[in-house]
Amino acid sequence: MKKLHQFLVYMVLLSLVLACNPSKENMSLEELYTYKADSIISIMTLEEKIGQLNLPASGDFTTGLASSSNIAEMIKAGSVGGLFNIKTAEKIRAVQKIAVEESRLKIPLIFGMDVIHGYETLFPIPIGMSSIWDMELVEKSARIAAIEASADGINWTFSPMTDISRDPRWGRVSEGSGEDPYLGAQIAKAMVKGYQGDDLSLNNTIMACVKHFALYGAPEAGRDYNTVDMSRIRMYNEYFLPYKAAVDAGVGSVMTSFNEIEGVPASANKWLMTDVLRDQWGFNGFVVTDYTSINEMVEHGIGDLQKVSELSLKAGVDMDMVGEGFLTTLKKSLDEGKITEKQIENACRRILIAKYKLGLFDDPYRYADPERAKKEVFNAEHRQVAREIAAQSFVLLKNKDKILPIQKKGTIALIGPLADNKENMAGTWSVAGRFDQAVSLSEGLRKAVGDKANVIYAKGANVVVDSLLESRVSIFGKPTYRDNRPAEMLIQEALAAAKNADVIVAALGESAEMSGESSSRTDIELPENQRDLLKALLKTGKPVVMVLFTGRPLALTWEEENVPAILNVWFAGSEAGDAIADVLFGDVNPSGKLSATFPQNVGQIPIYYNHKNTGRPLAEGQWFSKFRSNYLDVSNEPLYPFGFGLSYTDFNYGEIKLSGTALQGDQTLTVSVELTNSGKYDGKEVVQLYIRDVVGSVTRPVKELKGFQKVLLKSGETKTITFEITPEDLKFYNSDLNFVWEPGEFEIMVGGNSRDVKKAKVDWKE
Ligand code: BGC
Repeated sequence: MKKLHQFLVYMVLLSLVLACNPSKENMSLEELYTYKADSIISIMTLEEKIGQLNLPASGDFTTGLASSSNIAEMIKAGSVGGLFNIKTAEKIRAVQKIAVEESRLKIPLIFGMDVIHGYETLFPIPIGMSSIWDMELVEKSARIAAIEASADGINWTFSPMTDISRDPRWGRVSEGSGEDPYLGAQIAKAMVKGYQGDDLSLNNTIMACVKHFALYGAPEAGRDYNTVDMSRIRMYNEYFLPYKAAVDAGVGSVMTSFNEIEGVPASANKWLMTDVLRDQWGFNGFVVTDYTSINEMVEHGIGDLQKVSELSLKAGVDMDMVGEGFLTTLKKSLDEGKITEKQIENACRRILIAKYKLGLFDDPYRYADPERAKKEVFNAEHRQVAREIAAQSFVLLKNKDKILPIQKKGTIALIGPLADNKENMAGTWSVAGRFDQAVSLSEGLRKAVGDKANVIYAKGANVVVDSLLESRVSIFGKPTYRDNRPAEMLIQEALAAAKNADVIVAALGESAEMSGESSSRTDIELPENQRDLLKALLKTGKPVVMVLFTGRPLALTWEEENVPAILNVWFAGSEAGDAIADVLFGDVNPSGKLSATFPQNVGQIPIYYNHKNTGRPLAEGQWFSKFRSNYLDVSNEPLYPFGFGLSYTDFNYGEIKLSGTALQGDQTLTVSVELTNSGKYDGKEVVQLYIRDVVGSVTRPVKELKGFQKVLLKSGETKTITFEITPEDLKFYNSDLNFVWEPGEFEIMVGGNSRDVKKAKVDWKE
């Protein structure tokens, strides 16, 4: 009875405040939501306003220490704005019920999750997705993720992660789109579109959250959470682009990063969160911190919890993930005059508007539909798409004498620590995944060959020799099934299995959690015990195909020199085993291209294709020259350059044709090349367009990706590939941080990777 009374009072109050404005009909949706949010704010207590800024973890999954207890009581008291990482429609409905029936103002909760590369149907980890270079497929993967997650009650995902990284020691390169701003920006756009669709209020679209703003991918020494220090001109020209692309695509929320920028941690950085994000880029969604990142600013050394919470709010942060700094200190700061109630209301309004955009005020349960979940989550159709997408993400790094594809006949020895493992196929950050349902390589191969060939398996080696290291990389419950017999015994067993084989498939590399959060490494070569196994397998003289599992670029110099075929399959998701079999047997021709440079060794890091020239560049074709910019012991060349990836067929590029070599003002330059598939297979090629601004008021990179097209060519077919360039594409941030283009000479380059390009020149006048 008391509850009914309260509800009626609330409804009357709400309808009164909502009725006050007579001209609602002429409002834009944004204005209407603002008006509605303000109407609610006008009847909220201070505690309720602060409560909306609080985002505890559900306790189902946590990434740090804290998991807030007593959440139901807090929801009833109006002290929770949303929750994250709870799984299943039923659980989410139950929690939402508490919010909309038992809290005073009945404000629905927003439910978030790390839906990073799929929900239950898992796609390749993001670095794998970024090797596809097909934005329709990228968007499709995010669309399917949104359909599945929303059916289960999730309406907000902490994705895309658009942190550029040029440091494969950093474990989270696996979660991003590699080293390039342009490619990263295209992917950011496609992901936001896939998650959010055209209408956020539909029950199968979810709000995206671009992260981690900003520069999280550039920590010193590749150590996670470490200091970042960078010039603004580099931020604007290189690292900011993908975040901005997500904002331009209408992303609903932004997550701060853990690192500091110019001495101020991101979560208290007003320049980033307000001046850049809101004032310069026009972002109008809400900002959430990363996990306990407000509290962590105490360790950073910029104040106690009250102080850092105050700084964070003032910087423009709206929601506090897990740490409860806002919840426990903002009232005190307000009483002491350190913040204003308006600042709290601004944050509260942005969160309420997001809930309006998602349609939660119309129907707080619209996203949690157990019936839809039964039909749409992890269904056969989604899994088939995931299999096709996974196969597109594989990068063929080497294929001497075309030993790939292999045939479905004879005996295939399948050897290696990743050969018969389901759980690791998912890769890192796969919170909702059903690891036991993933397809292992062994299963995929056996299914593919049926009774046409014999597959013999042996583990051959553990992922790493050091059992302590192995336990550290299995923390998230993706078992590596350690075999405690001596390494030599495992190798002998593998050799026995390989004895009568026609071909050896060696499934080697990292296990899933050797990359990802808090998984930085200083040694990125293949673990020594795995290389010993590989050496023994190569000694048999049989053809060896290395299937490489990895979440980061590795230093594979020895393998490139000694192994005839290397297929990099990243972590391909729930359908990995089938997709790998599709490519190994040639049912699918590989077409992935690297989105990050593979170094020759760890000492070359950071190594990336779009570097500056320096005043002492090495002449082309040379690898050492005294007093030039180089190393004594290794060439400047990467092992595999950005954009690189082979095919079972051969592609030949003709010379570049330009619509003109002298252009003026706003003219458009048309660049075309003839591409011929001269090999035996039909295949897809990613044609890449690079430019170099030869002379600038500030130095410009030696090349920059400005366009790409993934095209299918039948064996023997020739196609003309055309790109258009306008002065807009030539723009960059100058030393005043103005976005300008400068007339002059430009080099135009086209090729199948960033190293092997055809070149032409244009003179572009004002
Ligand atoms: C990660 C974020 C993630 C968050 C919530 C943090 O540890 O840095 O990427 O979204 O946890 O799970």
